[in-house]
Amino acid sequence: LFISLEGPEGAGKSTQLARLAAQLEAHGQTHTVTREPGGTPLGLRVREVLLDPALTIDPLPEFLLYSASRAQLVRNVIRPALERGEVVLCDRYADSSLAYQGGGRGLNAGLLRQITQEATGGLTPHLTVLLDLDPAVGLERAARRGQPDRLEQADLDFHRRVRQAFLTLAAADPDRFLILDATQDQDTLADLIWQAAQARLP
Ligand code: C5P
Repeated sequence: LFISLEGPEGAGKSTQLARLAAQLEAHGQTHTVTREPGGTPLGLRVREVLLDPALTIDPLPEFLLYSASRAQLVRNVIRPALERGEVVLCDRYADSSLAYQGGGRGLNAGLLRQITQEATGGLTPHLTVLLDLDPAVGLERAARRGQPDRLEQADLDFHRRVRQAFLTLAAADPDRFLILDATQDQDTLADLIWQAAQARLP
């Protein structure tokens, strides 16, 4: 079972990921928690590059860097864990690229899908939890955590396009997506996510 969490900064993805992992642990379900960009030594280096506020990265190379990290992650971490029968929890996955580099930066969706297909071998999550949040609220929450990264400095319109793109992706694939209002309290969100995960466990 492959589960991804998506949403803007400040939506509480990391908190919910940790809570879902704790539930799996409590139920004796082996699992792997990972993130992108990151999750492998290469991914961590790519993440540093992508989030460096001193760099200007054009949309296409930005997407290709995310794809490089993703390709390595699928090969080295996600597929092996799935083959071992583990549940894989991933903090962001390909939907983030379709939303940020597609919806946000305006890259052609067909191109993004084609390269993503190559990078992932077509591996798609069984469940994608979208923590939906007004970007103004998300950015404010993220800002309270400290230094804004390269992306958090982008304008509100960019983040609105990203949100819309996530919602459009979710609407097109309602069986895979669980859309949750991220302003709900953390216990409620954790319960809803656990129910959805449990329903998909073998
Ligand atoms: O939420 P997380 O820390 O994983 O995201 C890191 C940064 O990368 C965020 O600013 C997010 O908006 C951005 N991002 C992106 N395109 C992706 C994935 C993440 O711009 N495909």
